[in-house]
Amino acid sequence: MLLDTYGRTATDLRVSLTDRCNLRCTYCMPEEGLQWLNRSDVLSDDEIVRLITIAVTRLGVTEVRFTGGEPLIRPGLVGIIKRCSALEPRPTLSMTTNGIGLRRTASALKTAGLDRINVSLDTLRPAVFAALTRRDRHADVIDGLRAAQEAGLTPVKINSVLMRGMNDDEAPDLLAWAMEHCYELRFIEQMPLDAQHGWARDAMITAEEILCSLRTRFTLTPEGEVARGAAPAERWIVDEGSHRVGVIASVTRPFCRACDRTRLTADGQIRDCLFARDETDLRESLRTGASDEELAELWRRAMWGKKAASGLDGPAFQRPVRPMSAIGG
Ligand code: SAM
Ligand code: SF4
Repeated sequence: MLLDTYGRTATDLRVSLTDRCNLRCTYCMPEEGLQWLNRSDVLSDDEIVRLITIAVTRLGVTEVRFTGGEPLIRPGLVGIIKRCSALEPRPTLSMTTNGIGLRRTASALKTAGLDRINVSLDTLRPAVFAALTRRDRHADVIDGLRAAQEAGLTPVKINSVLMRGMNDDEAPDLLAWAMEHCYELRFIEQMPLDAQHGWARDAMITAEEILCSLRTRFTLTPEGEVARGAAPAERWIVDEGSHRVGVIASVTRPFCRACDRTRLTADGQIRDCLFARDETDLRESLRTGASDEELAELWRRAMWGKKAASGLDGPAFQRPVRPMSAIGG
């Protein structure tokens, strides 16, 4: 098991398949992109599957979420998912994606064994999408969402980040639209993980603001701690019906106490937290002949040292060296 000194057990593994991306969301990376990882530093498909196998069969991981960068641009994605779905015990497999190209791959992903999908969509307005992501691909994302639902990658969830002066007036419209199409919407507070260090605490839209905005049109009833479990999103029942809306308030209401995450970067580093400044290198050991048990032991040790909390909203907080797109959000 992946235990830490605060009694938490990590059962949810986030795997970054690439640090590259075909969008340039303003809250994530600069227009010109980033210095991408060298291809030889990125784990091969076999290396990724081996580490996931160790996590599932020796370390108690029950859920694997593929992310990036943009996971859909990794050529071996379908094969990786297929091999992971054959593991015993079979982990739940999910993916976070910007949805571009999902129309082409959704049913192959489902057939390979992907269970669920989260698609990022911040706005219903194509012009605002183009300004936020610096690419004119709004229609592809809407189509990708539909394809995911048709393929049965359900419940299809939508991740939205609100940016002041751009799409912060859209929360109720996004929720109404998500409900109409049976998608589950979650808002994410903007975090200080952009490569260009543009985040400012005073400028970010807080969970409280999001909820106030939603309450202008909907009645929200808290779902409660028991239903939440270790999930990062706090959820509300919308208009006392069957729909839910979530808010991931990493900045203003951190949820570190219940965290069950462990992370593997595309270049084979273990991170015990999205905001950690330290990493444990598994790639070097992997490529120099370490046994499965030796790799598992390195992973256990990496998680044992996990801090009680990220300290994100405190004065001593220091950003991680890597941006979100290179860690795997
Ligand atoms: N490219 C995929 C996508 O956009 O869904 C997966 C990787 S992306 C880093 C994962 C999630 O992190 C997305 O929902 C994105 O909106 C969110 N994200 C990126 N930068 C963020 C930031 N600075 N604060 C909050 N969320 C962020
Ligand atoms: Fe790409 Fe996702 Fe970052 Fe947007 S949030 S630039 S889609 S990695």
